[in-house]
Amino acid sequence: MAVKKEKHTMPEQKPKDRIKNFNEVPYGYDEKTAIEEAKRCLNCKNRPCVNGCPVEIDIPDFIKQIAEGNFNKAVEILKTKTSLPAVCGRVCPYENQCEGECTLLKIGEPVAIGRLERFLADYERKKGVKIPKIAKSTGKKVVVVGAGPAGLTCAGDLAKMGHKVTVYEALHDPGGVLMYGIPEFRLPKEIVKAEVDYISKLGADIVYDVVVGKTITVEELMEDFDAIFIGTGAGLPRWLRIPGENYDGVYSANEFLTRVNMMKAYRFPEYDTPIKIGKVVATFGAGNVAMDCARTSLRLGAEKSYILYRRSEKEMPARNEEIEHAKEEGVIFKLLTNPVRFIGDDKGILKEVECIKMELGEPDESGRRRPIPVKGSEFKIKIDTALVAIGQSPNPLIPKSVKGLKIGKRGNIETDEEGRTNIPCVFAGGDIATGAATVILAMGAGKRAARAIDKYLKSKK
Ligand code: FAD
Repeated sequence: MAVKKEKHTMPEQKPKDRIKNFNEVPYGYDEKTAIEEAKRCLNCKNRPCVNGCPVEIDIPDFIKQIAEGNFNKAVEILKTKTSLPAVCGRVCPYENQCEGECTLLKIGEPVAIGRLERFLADYERKKGVKIPKIAKSTGKKVVVVGAGPAGLTCAGDLAKMGHKVTVYEALHDPGGVLMYGIPEFRLPKEIVKAEVDYISKLGADIVYDVVVGKTITVEELMEDFDAIFIGTGAGLPRWLRIPGENYDGVYSANEFLTRVNMMKAYRFPEYDTPIKIGKVVATFGAGNVAMDCARTSLRLGAEKSYILYRRSEKEMPARNEEIEHAKEEGVIFKLLTNPVRFIGDDKGILKEVECIKMELGEPDESGRRRPIPVKGSEFKIKIDTALVAIGQSPNPLIPKSVKGLKIGKRGNIETDEEGRTNIPCVFAGGDIATGAATVILAMGAGKRAARAIDKYLKSKK
């Protein structure tokens, strides 16, 4: 039988409805659609999709089980390599990873691996999550700093290996960016909480409201634990560095999304965290963070939500699905446009942004064509709120506070492929080592570091 060339469509909320609520946009496949989609998999011998997965999930194996209706077996295969499948099935950039390697791309669309992963994770959550066998206690103690995807993955894997794991998290909730950054309509908080609950059930203790580097130092932790994993992420906002960035109404994407997500400003008046939106919002940048800001502002009542980006659509770093969703919801894209200054009133309140048109020149060191200002093309847009989403740098607290720890040029902790730093008992991974990247890369780093920590602990016996 000929293989269907397109993925089975994902059912989702209509744009006109979803911009009025924060409920998740896609509904997920039902069992019948999941089986039909799984049957598109060719089960290739060379398994190119597995090579594209940073956590090495046995993709064709779990898909085969779905195709045969053996969902429990499929979940078991999936969970041997990932502890966060409901998260990855929603936010992973599959198009550049597993799906980007799928043989079906030669004739049409790849197998919808991400949607199948999400289907299985949701199926398991409804049926009740099984806890795998935990190895006998090794008597070794490991501390994980930061409960984002890197730290949680490392903690879960180490706990399964029989080590005693304690996670110290600065905030009052776990998940890192999954909780404070990615909005509810893309990744419901209940789903993150359920996956964190699974990690806790594996035996990892999570302690909240501990800022390592302030509440307790890494040196003090070295005295109490046999090894340390640092997964503190990249939460330091980058700014445009143009005049007027201090006006009331200009937010970093981080502050804006944290207020909305973690501090629950989106549930006003039930929660009274202040957030100012106004009628016209301009988001600067074109990555996933920018799309999240622009789409969130529409849901908070903005009449116009702009994305302003200095390059063209081709160079936008956001996932295709995020760009498509933003367009469907009415976000207005002003491309080849760069802000020059913010303009405020005499009370310091933001009123306008002055921009300049750009054109693309020769490729720069990133391989993308360099944007060049077009002389005399300045123009102004009246705005109430500006959201700066042009990137984040590694959190500086730990890199700055640990004596002798080797730090890279971008303020990142330097590690080898397995997460080893220059201090033997200290390991690191995720955005704190790579700079802002993706959930699955952070998880992959956490996984490799867990193996390296296990090896290190065994070598100390
Ligand atoms: P984080 O998720 O940042 O977690 C670090 C944790 O460490 C946090 O909980 C923090 O509170 C804690 N911490 C920091 N300092 C300390 C300290 N001193 N002591 C104790 N705890 C500390 N990636 C995708 O793959 N797909 C997407 O769709 C996507 N969308 C995104 C949208 C937004 C808005 C943002 C900001 C990022 C997005 N990303 C996306 C990127 C992805 O979320 C990150 O790459 C990933 O979360 C990095 O994981 P991490 O564990 O390294 O760090």
